[in-house]
Amino acid sequence: MSCSGDSDDDSSCKRKVAYVYSPEYIQTCDSLSKVPNRASMVHSLIEAYGLLKHMSVVKPQVATIEDMAKFHTDSYLEHLHKISQDGDNDDPQSGDYGLGYDCPVVEGIYDYAAAVGGATLTAAQCLMDQKCEVSVNWAGGWHHAKKDEASGFCYVNDAVLGILKLREKYERVLYVDVDLHHGDGVEDAFSFTSKVMTISFHKFSPGFFPGTGDLCDTGLGKGRWYAVNVPLEDGIKDDRYYQIFTSVMQEARAQFNPEAMVMQLGADTMAGDPMCSFNMTPVGVGKCLQHVLQWQLPTLLLGGGGYNLANTARCWTYLTAAVLGKTLSSEIPDHEGSLKACVNIHYQSVSQSNSSKSKCSSKAAAIFKKETE
Ligand SMILES: [Zn+2]
Repeated sequence: MSCSGDSDDDSSCKRKVAYVYSPEYIQTCDSLSKVPNRASMVHSLIEAYGLLKHMSVVKPQVATIEDMAKFHTDSYLEHLHKISQDGDNDDPQSGDYGLGYDCPVVEGIYDYAAAVGGATLTAAQCLMDQKCEVSVNWAGGWHHAKKDEASGFCYVNDAVLGILKLREKYERVLYVDVDLHHGDGVEDAFSFTSKVMTISFHKFSPGFFPGTGDLCDTGLGKGRWYAVNVPLEDGIKDDRYYQIFTSVMQEARAQFNPEAMVMQLGADTMAGDPMCSFNMTPVGVGKCLQHVLQWQLPTLLLGGGGYNLANTARCWTYLTAAVLGKTLSSEIPDHEGSLKACVNIHYQSVSQSNSSKSKCSSKAAAIFKKETE
């Protein structure tokens, strides 16, 4: 990689970054009912800050059914295709495939899944072709989907597809998930292999979705000790999170020696998110990202949750700038897109409501060390 130096704040670092984008892709992602128009908000803010000229903008492919069948079952994909034609939300079989309440069926849902899956595959291919050192698909990161089941707003597990693609070239791939929710679909997909280590930092609390990701869940069979879970409690803030993140990640790198990395950067950990759980800011998440980027591995960055849409756009724009070694001004430059909701890139609205609960599983890092020995 062209970036030298090992400082977390090396702003002189000029990374080659690929950004997966086409107007059609953003339009398709905007249609997702749980995060309406989020994809275009994120893209508009990145564009408004002039960040596109510092990246290679790469048009995403659309995944074929064969591409998605590298992970998903034929019967799931065929069912998704069938109900997608007319948005049939009442098909009696849909319940078997997790489609319904949390994952409503709308017309074109198969095309959405193929677009997201294809975009992450494109981002992975850019890394494998050495066209870039970091590739970005903010509209990806749907980590809950299972091989034969939609789950938690996720219809296709593009993160799994991306990891499988990277595995065609790289022996060991590290997956790191900092979404508020446990990255259960990705962990499940690789729970039996020692070639992919999954690490998830997430809220773990009775009744909180998806309910998995306890400290003692460490993988199965040959994959035992290659799944790492860091359960956290509400209220955690940047400094404590960074402390835990770096201690776990340093140990993971030492034990696993990854050749490539995928990071899911769901923004539902932000203070002000309707999830009302963690108290993170983009600066804190950005420090975690810089920590792993200094390893100079081929790295695929994905989005994920993030239900305060303006905060999510701010967060991912801030992270894009951080990857590029750019500092953003607090004033949004003039731009044709309407960004009134995103008035200030610098994150201010840190909720005080749950800050008193800023305890977390401090034993997580220590136990992780023990478990990987
Ligand atoms: Zn989430």
